[in-house]
Amino acid sequence: MTPPPPSRLRRLQLGARAIKTSTYEISATCNLTCEGCLFFSGEHAYKHTEVSDAERWRKFFQREAERGITYAFLAGAEPALAIDRVRAAAEYIPAGMIATNGTRRIPDDVRYRIHVSLWGGEATTALTRGADVTAKAFRNYANDPRAVFVFTINAMNLDEIRPMAYACAKHGVPMTFNYFAPTEVYETSISVDQPSRDDYLRFSDQDRNLILRDEDYARARTIIDGLRDELPETIVYSSAYDDWITSESPYDLDETGVARDCASRSDSVHQTYFVDQARSDLKCSHPTFDCRQCRTYASGMTSHVRNENRDVMRRRGRQSSSDAFDVWERLFVGDQWTRLSAHSDTARRRVLPA
Ligand code: SF4
Repeated sequence: MTPPPPSRLRRLQLGARAIKTSTYEISATCNLTCEGCLFFSGEHAYKHTEVSDAERWRKFFQREAERGITYAFLAGAEPALAIDRVRAAAEYIPAGMIATNGTRRIPDDVRYRIHVSLWGGEATTALTRGADVTAKAFRNYANDPRAVFVFTINAMNLDEIRPMAYACAKHGVPMTFNYFAPTEVYETSISVDQPSRDDYLRFSDQDRNLILRDEDYARARTIIDGLRDELPETIVYSSAYDDWITSESPYDLDETGVARDCASRSDSVHQTYFVDQARSDLKCSHPTFDCRQCRTYASGMTSHVRNENRDVMRRRGRQSSSDAFDVWERLFVGDQWTRLSAHSDTARRRVLPA
């Protein structure tokens, strides 16, 4: 008989103490060309040669599990193009999420959360990602309990939030939000009078680009709040998180400008590995962002909830009134609590250095 899911307090404790994360870039290829792509920004994306041997990936994730990692962030370029590596991770690490563009369906035996990126409606997606893949993503993941559609809000797609929320409702998938953050390469590239053009920068310039202004954040929030009332079963988003991530400087920055309180920052537990399985010596999973500009939702939500949970634990379990933990667990854990709970002894023990 399947054991019942743990209580909320137990889940808070597991979230605060037993989830040990790392980020794995498992594929160096993608079938889209998103403007200002996070992965294909900076030289590190091109200087690591992909390991394609499935057995080497199995051994790699076995070592990561032995190190004490219980939650895998599987990232790109596009993880769904490397299903044997996804399966290798899921075989050894009990929980995780996969960031995908939705164009290839990840087989049902993989029980991680699947975060499908949306960049707007048909025309905007074709412009900003090189192809309109929204219909295909909905076909692949309609009514899939593993799937969450993540709408990346940028300066050019605010009017498309609402229709895409209704499209998510129609296809039986929840929707959450990410704010576009410019990589340092993107910002530098558009700052000149005549930016050079390639797959990374097809149309952006100083006058027409994806960077959000203060008024865009405010407008996005108004739209999201309206949608939460209209589609409460579909919209999974936290007001407390939004207040924090849209503030002028969400993170506590050290003297070098790097976020001290970011869950994606490299430390003795959280590491990022490149496609050649080399451990990154860079600051975090998103080294091409300036922490002042960084608004990515996976790092942001996990950081916000982790810091909030530490307060909860300090107050001996007195719960926060914020909705951020509940939203985070729906997005990132879902039905994985039982597996995490079963691995909590492993997770509680001291995590070995990478
Ligand atoms: S760039 Fe973003 S993910 Fe990296 S340390 Fe800074 S805030 Fe965290």
